This record gives sequence, structure tokens and C-alpha cells, in this order.
Amino acid sequence: MDDLYRELILEHYKHPHNHGRLEHPDISAEEHNPLCGDRIRLDLRIEHDVITDVRFDGRGCAISQASASMLTDELIGMPVEEAKRFSKERLLDLIGIPLEHNPVRIKCALLALKTLKAGLYGVGHAPDDDDL
Ligand code: ZN
Repeated sequence: MDDLYRELILEHYKHPHNHGRLEHPDISAEEHNPLCGDRIRLDLRIEHDVITDVRFDGRGCAISQASASMLTDELIGMPVEEAKRFSKERLLDLIGIPLEHNPVRIKCALLALKTLKAGLYGVGHAPDDDDL
């Protein structure tokens, strides 16, 4: 793993952005990654179809928690329609380390996105992991 990106991940892991819970969130979702034991909960505030605030809470490995921290930074001010189309490539770009060939780690990295989609689309209507 590239040292620069390793540093970035550890920085987000130690000092996560938008960490905690929202009071009375408009959308709340929680997902877990049984392969690694990671868990992410996302609370979203939606006003006029735009995400105006977001918090996440969770536990697990550095990649899962850092990617949630990075994703939440992107989401604030984003229209819901854009967030629904937020691609895994876009999130992996933010994380900056090549995980395409690491099936376990990629589940860690994409857990926050999976949680977001579950919240926005509703349980049972979110895309499969492969189509995030
Ligand atoms: Zn993990």
C-alpha cells in the first residue's frame, strides 16, 4: 500500500469526519460486513432533495471507517439523485488505494456506500454489491 494513502486512511480513522448521530434524521441506515466484522450506521438530513447534513457511526477496520469518513465529506450539499448514483469507482478514487483485486478489503471500503444506498433506496431495493 502506498504510504501517502496509508497515512490518509489512518488520519481519517483516528479523526473521522462527521462522526456521531443526528437527532431525528430523515434517513437512517445500518449495514455490516460479515467478512471483516465492520459495521456502519449513517444518519442523513434531507431538505428539498439535497443532503444537508450527515453523520456516521460504526466500528471495524481502518479502511471501513476511513471510507465512511471520506464519503460523508462528499455527501454534504449533494442532491439525493446524485448520491443515489454515487459509484464505487468514485469512492475508491477517494480512498486512493488499489483494492480491485482484494475481495475482502473492497467489501470494507464499500460498506459505507452500501449503507448509503440502502438508506436512499430503502431496504430490499438497494443495488447489489456488484452494482453499487
Ligand atoms: Zn474491514
